[in-house]
Amino acid sequence: MNLSESVPDSWFSADYAEARAKFRAAAERAGAALSAYRNPDTRQADGGDLTTDVARLGPAPGAAAKVLIASSGTHGVEGFCGSGCQVGMLETGAHRLLPAGCALVLVHAINPYGFAWLRRVTEDNIDLNRNNLDHGAGHPANPKYAGIHDLLTPRDWHGPGREAADTAIAAYIKEHGLFAFQEAVSGGQYDYPDGLFYGGRALSWSARTWREIIEAHCRGAGRAAHLDFHTGLGDYGACEIISVEGAGAERARLWYGDEVKSPEKNDSLSAVVTGSMENGFDGIAQETEVTTVALEYGTRPLYDVLEALRADNWVHLHGDPASEEGKAIKRQIRDAFYGDEPEWKATIWATADRVVRQAAAGLAG
Ligand SMILES: [Zn+2]
Repeated sequence: MNLSESVPDSWFSADYAEARAKFRAAAERAGAALSAYRNPDTRQADGGDLTTDVARLGPAPGAAAKVLIASSGTHGVEGFCGSGCQVGMLETGAHRLLPAGCALVLVHAINPYGFAWLRRVTEDNIDLNRNNLDHGAGHPANPKYAGIHDLLTPRDWHGPGREAADTAIAAYIKEHGLFAFQEAVSGGQYDYPDGLFYGGRALSWSARTWREIIEAHCRGAGRAAHLDFHTGLGDYGACEIISVEGAGAERARLWYGDEVKSPEKNDSLSAVVTGSMENGFDGIAQETEVTTVALEYGTRPLYDVLEALRADNWVHLHGDPASEEGKAIKRQIRDAFYGDEPEWKATIWATADRVVRQAAAGLAG
């Protein structure tokens, strides 16, 4: 059987708890070493633990010359996609594709709160993919975000305040274009803790845990390929391979081809961002040559995705997530980041499988 052509519906889950159980079961079947990092600051709605789980196959930490490390759930609710692909990697024996001396490290739900609560942010409203920077060295200003913060976060979700904000947003998009609006919203901001795409003023639990995992699993390796799974930008089921411009981007193009896009070159669906996950390696795995790419899978139209984030921000700040309206907003944000249909899952797995093979070849070279 060609596993890349099988329909991998069963690898994907309906919620965080199911995803965690599936991941751990698949890891055990594959003979992986498992570890778990519990977030002490928050819990599941039913009181259950929230953990980031790590499965490792191949040479032990410290003994691996190379590492393929794949992370899911950086943006919480986007974890449905990455989790399904990680289970697929375990079920299809992806570690057997890797060159000698190379370990496979799968980091499941690095932002478990966001996954479980269907949010893109961490428990402290932080965008983890804007949080990975040296917070002692100051924070970039984002005047474009400052200009629209009030429009994005109306106090009342119904009535004249919201209507005026929507009208102003429509005017902004008409004048500047949808991508300019996306850039202003999503580039990352460090001045509005209750706002969207807030990068924080200190490392979140997830960012600290990410560093702990890199330290434990990558230190001593000469080369690392890092895949970070995301959803929410692009056409339904399509995948854009994104690399931050630099030496890593050149390697990424060699490994994954010319389809690699870079926000700095203005050819990506993503805005230029600061503090992304690849910066987690800074100062830890100095001796490791790291090649990070984000796999960005399309779900819904961009405006709908941004509206879902706006609604989610409102319901956690001013509304009640457990109310009927809150539940509707939770469905809205889940739909915005998860193409919960067999065809979508088969398509995204086909790309993930191909990229894993390309990473394996790149690491072998
Ligand atoms: Zn994302």
